[in-house]
Amino acid sequence: MAEEQTKTIRTTCPYCGVGCGLKVTQRQDDAPVIQPDPDHPANYGRVCTKGAALGETLDHDDRLLQPQLRGRPVDWDTALDTVADGLRQAIDRYGPDSVAFYVSGQLLTEDYYVANKLMKGFIGSANIDTNSRLCMSSAVAGHQRAFGEDLVPGCYEDLEQADVIVIVGGNSAWCHPVLFQRIQAARERRSNMRLIVIDPRRTATADMADLHLAVRPGSDVALFNGLFRYLDDNGYADRSFIDAETEGYTSARDVCAAFDPDRVAVDCDVERQAIEDFYRSFAEHERVVTLFSQGVNQASSGTDKVNAIINCHLLSHRLGKPGCGPFSLTGQPNAMGGREVGGLANTLAAHMGFEADNVDRVRRFWDSDSIAGEPGLKAVDLFNAIEAGQIKAVWIMATNPLVSLPDADQARRALSACDFVVVSDCMATTDTTQYADVLLPAAAWGEKDGTVTNSERRISRQHAFLPLPGEARPDWWIISEVGKRLGHEQAFDYRQPADIFSEHARLSAFENDGSRLFNIGGLGALSQTEYDALTPRQWPLKNADDTGSARLSGVTDGTRQPARFVTTMARPPVHAVSAEYPFILNSGRVRDHWHTLTRTGKSPRLSAHRDEPFVAIHPDDADALALQENTLAEVETRWGRLNARVRRDNGQRRGELFVPIHWNDVYSQRARVGALVNPVVDPLSGEPEFKHTPARARPVAMA
Ligand code: SF4
Repeated sequence: MAEEQTKTIRTTCPYCGVGCGLKVTQRQDDAPVIQPDPDHPANYGRVCTKGAALGETLDHDDRLLQPQLRGRPVDWDTALDTVADGLRQAIDRYGPDSVAFYVSGQLLTEDYYVANKLMKGFIGSANIDTNSRLCMSSAVAGHQRAFGEDLVPGCYEDLEQADVIVIVGGNSAWCHPVLFQRIQAARERRSNMRLIVIDPRRTATADMADLHLAVRPGSDVALFNGLFRYLDDNGYADRSFIDAETEGYTSARDVCAAFDPDRVAVDCDVERQAIEDFYRSFAEHERVVTLFSQGVNQASSGTDKVNAIINCHLLSHRLGKPGCGPFSLTGQPNAMGGREVGGLANTLAAHMGFEADNVDRVRRFWDSDSIAGEPGLKAVDLFNAIEAGQIKAVWIMATNPLVSLPDADQARRALSACDFVVVSDCMATTDTTQYADVLLPAAAWGEKDGTVTNSERRISRQHAFLPLPGEARPDWWIISEVGKRLGHEQAFDYRQPADIFSEHARLSAFENDGSRLFNIGGLGALSQTEYDALTPRQWPLKNADDTGSARLSGVTDGTRQPARFVTTMARPPVHAVSAEYPFILNSGRVRDHWHTLTRTGKSPRLSAHRDEPFVAIHPDDADALALQENTLAEVETRWGRLNARVRRDNGQRRGELFVPIHWNDVYSQRARVGALVNPVVDPLSGEPEFKHTPARARPVAMA
């Protein structure tokens, strides 16, 4: 076959927040061959099992290929007119806050930008929230408190340059595998590099650690307050940095003074010797990275946990330098891009909040006279408002909240009660699509163009390499068409994603006086050709010739406020175990599945790793409950119950259960762990406490 008939494009993996680059090669009618991109700075040619199996998940089985109105196929004009009419009727009768969008970290930045602009800028409500609320909003709130802005100061290279890596509340070996491969490769090169894992479970990541602290769930603030005290008492505080660049040190020090190692050992239920080993490692090595993930964020004290970690890095000035920093890992491929455009109900756009001058700035940029003036409802509150009848019309895009929200049966009741439900998805049959009045077929990965931002602030292109099947359309197009039908022709007159991206970039620079670091104004005048050729780079990108910033070194640069120490109070999870519900239910991902299985479930290779819901339980607890390996158990909480296969697991602490998040009621009745999770949220971030619900378990009697 002639060379010119082979097409190669570079794109980005649609799964986790590592954001690996991929090379897709296609010869005319052959199936695309998907390989890791050797040149992408996130993965340099590495890939994990999920990324390697992407080619097996591209078929159209159960794809939604045509708009549907109450189950009946309709054309696009009918569907879009119906959506616009439904939203307009709610707005006219009940006001703009009677409508809501619930979106997703699966959307590309361009889709996200247009959804946020339509809701906040032109419908005039901030009732747009995202499933990223469920995984990283505590990190956002923690960054905002410490740095005045949602920023990750470091980069992936820091993980290879560190002397000590501390992983808190994350199973990176399974959930951010390529990043963990990079860490392991660095450890092989540098035998003195130390890995410390802080996690109640002995996970695949903890198995590789030099030190594993199996802490009591919810005790992270005590652990890091104790580290603060240790660093301060033993001369590891960088006084000149603290004086010049920070504020709030004295209050934080006073609170942390109560956390001596004996108290921390009791609070965390870990031996004092192990605690001191961790503290010494952190103190005695110049280059320390603390990676944190959902085990930190998904808690009623998630934001305090984040700040307790950041406090220690500020105190010892271990951030903004090679091999140093607190580092939040995002779960989804574009959680970070969503944060940049204002996809959270409490942010506006381009890292701006709802301060009056910011609202005015964005209003003028968008030329809108109906912009929202205050934050909207966060995910859990938003679904409560739907059930209460305050929200009359909701549009859900690229997510499956009836599986993923806590107290997921409440979300089901909410959609049953809602007057008008629109769902955009690429799949026809999910737990959520079944409740749609209007179902809109969205383009899937491989069919759409745009950008994503990974955990290290790196913006990368996603390129389409497949034709749009049936009537599927990109999300940005669908939202823009509704925006035009609501009377905003000019504001949503986009021809292609490049138009949207350059508008987003220009907004980030619009009257940015330097008090915000998020500035990609240098990309605001890209031509279509330049946009197509955009290579991965880390913001800020203030000028057209910027190649990016690996580290945000100075916390202040004269225009920004000092970094802040935050006083963090150790407090237990909201619902304690009891005689009735004596176990703590924890939830999380498995290695080879993603979210609610709509893609990874298509690959027998991926399902071979874990092919059904399970409950992991310590063997002694299993014996006490007469739960044999591979038998069925019923796990129950005050909010719901499920059935799962018993896995007796020495890596579980006594008194704790672990159930994966992926399975759903399309797979099997009573398989959604979300239905069991208490709807408790962090008061600042609104992130749910997925890691701690009182539960009980018992054998399922076989007929
Ligand atoms: Fe995709 Fe994440 Fe695996 Fe990279 S590590 S290939 S982004 S799932």
